[in-house]
Amino acid sequence: MKRKLKVLYFRDRCIGNASCAALASNQFEFTGQKATLLNGKKEGNEKFTLNVNCDDNEANDILQAARACPVNAIGVVDMEKNEDIVSYEVKENNAREIAAKYDDSKEFILDDKGYFLIRLDRKSRNIEVAFCNMKNNIILKVTGKKPIDIYHTILHKEKLGIRPEHAAYLGRELQKAYTALENNLEYVQDEELDLNKKFSQ
Ligand code: SF4
Repeated sequence: MKRKLKVLYFRDRCIGNASCAALASNQFEFTGQKATLLNGKKEGNEKFTLNVNCDDNEANDILQAARACPVNAIGVVDMEKNEDIVSYEVKENNAREIAAKYDDSKEFILDDKGYFLIRLDRKSRNIEVAFCNMKNNIILKVTGKKPIDIYHTILHKEKLGIRPEHAAYLGRELQKAYTALENNLEYVQDEELDLNKKFSQ
């Protein structure tokens, strides 16, 4: 099926992570600091538009690129329905606003899949993560340099099926471990990072 889309691109918002060019290379190119909307018509200082007639696959690539942009620099309009598919504006008309509340001593739920052990190898500058089942057997070991590499490996590739708050805990601990490694700080799992406490052997 043919689709008629209008792509809007606001160049001044682009922070240059290049995901649009990776996902929709027919429409976006990344050569320098910012993306370019190929054959885009300049409509303002930094605003470019492009009308695209394409099949579902190409439309899907464009939509993925727009959704992946972390700074809403790309919008997509369905020209036949005259409606936004991906809006470049963040709207909050129906947003609920609530204050975060959590009491760890009362609300903590143990993950029956297991638990993580995290430590640093300062010599190789790696973060080492082990996952133990509830019988205290290590069933997975993952070593990496960056939190994003490690949690993607554990959560998406290894699919441990842990609770969502346990996954969030892993991300928080990995970031602490990474900060400790980068700044030569003491790292103790589950303890707050002390920015004044340097690591000593
Ligand atoms: S995804 Fe967004 S921020 Fe990243 S290069 Fe494309 S337009 Fe720029």
